[in-house]
Amino acid sequence: MVALSDGTVPQDLHALLRDAHKDDIDHLLHRAFLSNPIEASINAYLIESGSRLALVDAGAGAFFGPGAGGKLVASLCAAGYHPDQVDDILLTHVHTDHSGGLVDGNGRPVFRRATVHVGQADLDFFLDPAHRAGVGGYDKIYFEQAHVSLQPYRAAGKLKGFAGTTPVIPAVRAVPTPGHTPGHAFFVLESEGAAIEFIGDVLHVQAVQMARPEVTIVYDVEPPAARSQREQQFDRLARQRRMVAGAHLPFPGIGHLRRESAGFSFVPTDYRYRAGKP
Ligand SMILES: [Zn+2]
Repeated sequence: MVALSDGTVPQDLHALLRDAHKDDIDHLLHRAFLSNPIEASINAYLIESGSRLALVDAGAGAFFGPGAGGKLVASLCAAGYHPDQVDDILLTHVHTDHSGGLVDGNGRPVFRRATVHVGQADLDFFLDPAHRAGVGGYDKIYFEQAHVSLQPYRAAGKLKGFAGTTPVIPAVRAVPTPGHTPGHAFFVLESEGAAIEFIGDVLHVQAVQMARPEVTIVYDVEPPAARSQREQQFDRLARQRRMVAGAHLPFPGIGHLRRESAGFSFVPTDYRYRAGKP
């Protein structure tokens, strides 16, 4: 498995976070040697499973403009791969920072051989023509960008929705974790007795939401469901001592969750760089 950076994007937490007082946010950032706005990582992951090559999430592509995100293909090539080699793309959910990189700046598919797998509930929500003008205060831009990113794959018959806990490619199963979006899913990779869970956007801001899992963000489609999903999953992941990979944890975003007297903390995994078993 290879962690790939799509770059970072600035995030004004005073404007974006909900259910937290500005002073509390600043205090938690100060403890983490950060200040508002923070710089959020956008991570993707490459999985080699037998003869197949799969990407977990596809970055933002050109949607955030020059300078923010959009570096996934360069990272993929630097790791020694080419977009045409990718067989499958597993989207934790449809949001632009995960699906935008499916297409180039002209709306053409970047991964020309790949099949895109994503929770059916996200396809139903983001591609519903009735939602194209926005729905329930949720901005129309999410729906417009989802359409641009996914349509070429849908037209080619290469967009597949999954429902329930289900294998998506060999050694990887999808586990629905709705809340942030209706079809949000984790992907669990199990290989040679080890496991890692790709946890997508169950959290956005490590410095705040590990200590305060009840804090939500404006990107949540259903904030109360996002909050309870986070609290439930953090508890399980900490108890099971699961290795996780997070889309917005600081790159490479791989480590474990530890329960603290209040909330949780993230413990990045030790760095290793040598030949042999990864
Ligand atoms: Zn995201």
